[in-house]
Amino acid sequence: MKRCGLVQDLLPLYAEEMCSEESRALVTEHLAECAECRGVLEKMGKKLTVRPDDDVVMMKRIRRRLLIEKIAVTAVVTLAALVLVAGLGFWAMNTTVEMGYDRYHLDECVWVEEDADGDLWLCKRDAATTAVHVFPTIRDSNGNHMGYDEGFDRELRDGYGFTLEQRRIDALTLIDIHTSSEERTLLFQKDEKPAIQEIFYYERATGTEHTLWERS
Ligand SMILES: [Zn+2]
Repeated sequence: MKRCGLVQDLLPLYAEEMCSEESRALVTEHLAECAECRGVLEKMGKKLTVRPDDDVVMMKRIRRRLLIEKIAVTAVVTLAALVLVAGLGFWAMNTTVEMGYDRYHLDECVWVEEDADGDLWLCKRDAATTAVHVFPTIRDSNGNHMGYDEGFDRELRDGYGFTLEQRRIDALTLIDIHTSSEERTLLFQKDEKPAIQEIFYYERATGTEHTLWERS
């Protein structure tokens, strides 16, 4: 590496032994391999003040130390970024936010169908099927969910409603994937008692009941 200009700028200080440790090591290292700069130094009436080997070793040490610091900083920054991303991901997967009826066009994405046998099916598509943990549940008036909570009261004649939840957060859109898939879930069989008169989606945020199906 040719650094004659820089080295020769430093030589007067070097000759007076007034350089910093780093500069001195750099100059010595250069002098060891550059006859021209050695000549300039000798014209100042000085020779190498220390054995080149010592300073070359020190220069190598300084370079190694800088390299280690660089690697350490990079590692810490990378680790911090990974922890942040993992934390955000975990938070997103575990944050349950009710799907807004209007925002997700649930009037088009969720409906109930009665098949030829008189069984009732919940049908979902698009936004309503977006994540693994998105599931519609039937909730009784005590807030217990069919299939998930032991205390679910199947005998209640009223209070049936759907709480459709999606694990997502508003600030991140990475889970907000719209698919064209369609899902059907059997809700009630024809002979099930009490006979279901109405099925609605209950939006907790606004306390609104959206009718999905009514016995005609
Ligand atoms: Zn030189």
